[in-house]
Amino acid sequence: MPALVDRARPVTVPPPRGIYCNRTLNFRALRAIGYDMDYTLVDYRAEVFERRVYDLALGALVAEGWPVEDLAFDPGMVVRGLVIDTELGNLVKANRFGFVKRAMHGTSPLDFPAQREHYAHETVNLRNSRWVFLNTLFSLSEGCLYAQLVDLRDQGRLPESLDYAHLYRRVRAKVDAQHLEGRLKAEIAAAPEAFVAPDPEAALALQDQRASGKLLMLITNSEWSYTSRMMTHAYDPHLPVGQTWRDLFDLVIVGARKPEFFTGHGPFFEVATEEGLLRPLQGPLQPGGAYMGGSAAQVEQDLGFAGDQILYVGDHMFGDVNVSKRELRWRTALVLRELEEEVAALASFAGTEALLAAKMEEKERLEARLSRLRLEVQRRRGGYGPPLEPGAGAPEAAMQDLRTRLLALDAEIGPLAQAGNELVSPRWGLLTRAGNDKSHLARQVERYADVYTSRVSNFLHATPYAYFRSPRGSLPHDPGAPGGPPLAPVLGTDLDPA
Ligand code: IMP
Ligand code: MG
Repeated sequence: MPALVDRARPVTVPPPRGIYCNRTLNFRALRAIGYDMDYTLVDYRAEVFERRVYDLALGALVAEGWPVEDLAFDPGMVVRGLVIDTELGNLVKANRFGFVKRAMHGTSPLDFPAQREHYAHETVNLRNSRWVFLNTLFSLSEGCLYAQLVDLRDQGRLPESLDYAHLYRRVRAKVDAQHLEGRLKAEIAAAPEAFVAPDPEAALALQDQRASGKLLMLITNSEWSYTSRMMTHAYDPHLPVGQTWRDLFDLVIVGARKPEFFTGHGPFFEVATEEGLLRPLQGPLQPGGAYMGGSAAQVEQDLGFAGDQILYVGDHMFGDVNVSKRELRWRTALVLRELEEEVAALASFAGTEALLAAKMEEKERLEARLSRLRLEVQRRRGGYGPPLEPGAGAPEAAMQDLRTRLLALDAEIGPLAQAGNELVSPRWGLLTRAGNDKSHLARQVERYADVYTSRVSNFLHATPYAYFRSPRGSLPHDPGAPGGPPLAPVLGTDLDPA
């Protein structure tokens, strides 16, 4: 049976296609699954999509007389998870505590002293409008254009005098307009294959979920005609003959206006015809219906499901995952397309990482010994306290030797650490790491996404009956943690009561 053989999955899913779990999620307990469309059910070629948005926004600025004809989209300029500091014209990468670990003013990296000057006393706080988090791959055009325009502003080449915050608002408005005006969407609808990255397995994953008894919903901010075009392109060719994407969903909601969809009580309109004719909804949502607007509150009420019976799957950190979790306690899955590259890079770096860890351990040992010797000298000079190293000769000579060894070790560690910091993106490094710590993005993923994965079709391998268990949380004092107590008890030490 060749068809079956073709479809058979390897028992072990390659790590880049895994589903990673922050909070235990039993798929069997879910009654309904809602899906976002753009960058979730429909995966775009981000570089192509964002270049087009960028070019259209740039064209609009040129039409207003801005001298920006020579600018070009640079896909390596920014990554998801960075934060725009609209007060200073910077893009920053922060760690999980909000401390800025890397920064760029305009398109130029900030050196350490400048970074320290600006951010030693300032942490990123996304509740303050000064900071704008790049929530999705849709943010790449905006971040790149802003950085480049900050350069022009600093050179006095903009036709208006704008501070960095005003300049940001201009860029935001221009990028926003491209999504709302018809041209971008018309171009994509005319040639979806140029913009959409195909994923033939996603349709089967949804069929499996629906046939397992779950109610499936599509909840997108895109409008009806665009949604219908994109879903037809991405799903219909992969469904049995005679079926369309509509057969996958019990409920289709377009123009949802997330995040307000999750917090408000807006009215639903019924999409009455294929052309998108709208009429106000009378009565409850009907199975198989297509609607516009509305609210998650009414979805819960009409479906009779609520909270942790519903999983929402989306790519927008705030609009899809943060708000649905915070406001409604829905279970959440974040689609993070970049995860595939991230996981592959981490795997290829694992050998170097182990070497780096060994050298850091050696460094810590030498530093600890140096500290003891320094204290020995201090006590001898002060004439107090017991000797730390009885019988040790001249500690100064040993200290000098340690310093020499530490310098040599630092020279070995430096390039290894730098290679680690430049994985995937030379400018920004890994999405989920900031220096030695988790990034601000990683912290949000942890907080708001129960599970995260690179694409919807990864659910195919997991099956609708999966039970995702989170790993036991780790803390610095855990046995076996780097720098923590050893795994096996150490007998015979001074602290051992036996
Ligand atoms: P969703 O991800 O399926 O909810 O839909 C995202 C929709 O929002 C797409 O139609 C995008 O074109 C649109 N979109 C993305 N970024 C912006 C923006 O900055 N302003 C307005 N619409 C946007
Ligand atoms: Mg989306």
